[in-house]
Amino acid sequence: MRKQIQQEIERLKGMGAAYVDTRWYPFEEQEYLLMWNGNLKTTASARESGVGIRVLYKGAWGFSASSDLSDLGALYSKAFDNARVAAERVTFPVRLAEKDAIQAQFESPCKINPFDVSLDDKVAFLKAMDEKLNQEGVEQRTSDLNFIRKQIIFIDSEGSETEKLITEVFSGLRVSGRDSEGGSHERKFRLNRRGESRGWESFDMDYFNENADRIVKEMNQVLRADDCPKDKRDAILMPGILFLQTHETIGHALELDRILGYELAYAGGSFVTLDDFGKLQYGSKKLTARADATLPNSPGSFGYDDDGIPAKNTVLIDKGILIGAITGRQMVEEANAKAKKHIFNESGGANRATSFYRVPIERMTNINIDPGNDGTLEDIVKNTEKGIILDGEKSWSIGSNREQFHFATEIGWLVEDGEITDVVKNSTYKGDTVKFWNSLSLVGDESTTEVQFVDNCGKGQPNQIMQLGHSVPVCRFDNVTIGE
Ligand SMILES: [Zn+2]
Repeated sequence: MRKQIQQEIERLKGMGAAYVDTRWYPFEEQEYLLMWNGNLKTTASARESGVGIRVLYKGAWGFSASSDLSDLGALYSKAFDNARVAAERVTFPVRLAEKDAIQAQFESPCKINPFDVSLDDKVAFLKAMDEKLNQEGVEQRTSDLNFIRKQIIFIDSEGSETEKLITEVFSGLRVSGRDSEGGSHERKFRLNRRGESRGWESFDMDYFNENADRIVKEMNQVLRADDCPKDKRDAILMPGILFLQTHETIGHALELDRILGYELAYAGGSFVTLDDFGKLQYGSKKLTARADATLPNSPGSFGYDDDGIPAKNTVLIDKGILIGAITGRQMVEEANAKAKKHIFNESGGANRATSFYRVPIERMTNINIDPGNDGTLEDIVKNTEKGIILDGEKSWSIGSNREQFHFATEIGWLVEDGEITDVVKNSTYKGDTVKFWNSLSLVGDESTTEVQFVDNCGKGQPNQIMQLGHSVPVCRFDNVTIGE
């Protein structure tokens, strides 16, 4: 098969193709199970395999994909024909940033392949979680498991060949109940990074039991709590909400294709312009954010992207100043050309497709915030006169260019004179992205940092669902509007 792919790539090069690549998925498996109030509501599994072929001809892309590999030659010819037709109406010729040819392999850390575990064991796990969540005050309870395993072989016309074996595990617990006025409130727990690998071994009962008890207890506190005051307070964001803040107002805002206007129809643009790089004070001096695909054991680490670029650790915001973006080979060249200056030196290695039959686009890797020197959560609380601790995403809305946001959280704890006082319900906060990040006043140390997994980031048309992570510490933002 590899030899055949090489031969076809050579054939298209002979026909004038400037670049050809192939992603061959020998297999991709997915399994999803959901238990709701003691009933196994969903069990879905899928297995697929196939190839996706990109051809660059006279500045235009052509693409074809199929799970039927009986006539590879026809598939390559189709991709080439598509490029030839597209080349007749190209407005901005595609160029690819330089890269080195590599031969390499990557395997995500996994001790027990979740697809080797019996369905009985998986259902038994969900049942145990469901029973654990079945406590006083809980009206609805769900627990779910989501597994992905895929092998991807990438071969291109520039001499690169990479092979990846990626295993992903995700799990969530959720409880909801009603307060005395009938308002519904929920609390969730999501599996995040723990230990050195994350196969089925991540489903450690003690760990899940502890968190099941905690979310039930916290939800019951919310049910009895008063409303979040309409106020201005220092907001202390826990990793369970800061990950979303980072995702929506740093991650998506800094995808280079979005900055160039390519995602307008679906999930909005970005307020960031090419002129802002090297200049914009995106946040306070305490903010250093990065796109780090080298973070071990996270779904945003995948070895090599779908342009064949090795995983990188790129600083996006350096002590508050915007300096980098989430990039692939094509957009880097286009941005430099449109800006008429050299903003980006090379691809950031963030071009990814969700499956063999989709084309790669710029996707978040792990978008992280560096831990700071402001101590533990206790230290941050002690140093806060009038604040609120917020955790758990409940709802979110974002301005069409990600310039403003409004988030509701599952729980809030008021802080008065350095001490936690009351739990509040219906907690919300809002702000303007740049102003908000510039109000970042305290950043917790390593002990406050958690890697939160995201298994459902959507982007592109047709939609592509992608997996990634966010390593974020506890952060305090000053004088934030809450409760509105
Ligand atoms: Zn997303």
